Amino acid sequence: MPRERRIAFISDIHANLEALTAVLDDARTQEVTDFICLGDVVGYNADPCACIALIRELGCVTVCGNHDYYCSDPAVDINDFQDTAASVIEWTRRQLSDADLRWLRSLPLTATTQGITAVHSTLDNPKHWRYVFDAYDAADNFNAQKTRVCFHGHTHVPMIFSRNGDRLIRIPPTSGLLDKGMYFINVGSVGQPRDGIPEASYAIYAARGLMDCNIIFRRVPYDVETAIAKVRRANLPDKLVDRLYSGR
Ligand code: ZN
Repeated sequence: MPRERRIAFISDIHANLEALTAVLDDARTQEVTDFICLGDVVGYNADPCACIALIRELGCVTVCGNHDYYCSDPAVDINDFQDTAASVIEWTRRQLSDADLRWLRSLPLTATTQGITAVHSTLDNPKHWRYVFDAYDAADNFNAQKTRVCFHGHTHVPMIFSRNGDRLIRIPPTSGLLDKGMYFINVGSVGQPRDGIPEASYAIYAARGLMDCNIIFRRVPYDVETAIAKVRRANLPDKLVDRLYSGR
C-alpha cells in the first residue's frame, strides 16, 4: 500500500503567533508530512515578523495573500482602504525588515505541487482578491482550476465547494473522504476565524492516491488572551480584539 501523504493547509495567519504556534503543535500530533501556506501571513495582529520567521522556517510552499501584497508593495496606496485596514497596514509596514519585505514580494499568487493547487482567493483572477461564499461565486474558479483539488482561504470561513459535471454545491466543512468530482476547499483562518468559532482553523489533506483522499478539518484552542494583550500594546484598533474573542 502506498504511503499516506498528510499535508496541512494553513491560511490567514494574520500575525497571530499564539494561534500559529498552537496549529503547528497540533499538526505535529496529526503526523503531518508537509505544510502549505495559503497566504496572509501578516496583517491585523501584532506579530508579523515572528510569523514570517516561523513560516520561512517550515520552508513550505506559500502563496501571496492580499495583506502580504498590501503590506509589502509600496505602490499600494493605503488611502484607498477603510480606517481599520489602513492603520493596520501602516503599522505592519513599519515592523517588517527588508528581508521580510523581500520574502513577501517573492511569493507567487498560485502554486501547484503534488497535484494540488493553492491560491489565496480564486484561480480565475488571483489578484482581484474575490471572496467566495457561495456556489455562484465559486463557478469562475472551477473554470480556471486544472487540478482535482484546490485549496484557498481569504474569507476566514471554512467550507467546501464541489463540482461534479454541471452540479456545483457548497458543503459544510465536514471531515471525510473526497468523492468523485472537483473540489475547491477553504480551510478557514489560523489567526482570525470569522465563522463564530474563535479557535484556530486549518485542514489536513490525507492522500494515498488521487482518488483516495480524505480531508480533515481541525479547530485548535490557543492563548487568545496573550494575542489580544499584544494587539492592545501595539495600539491596534479595538475592533481586532473583538474579532479574536468572538470569532467573527
Ligand atoms: Zn485574510
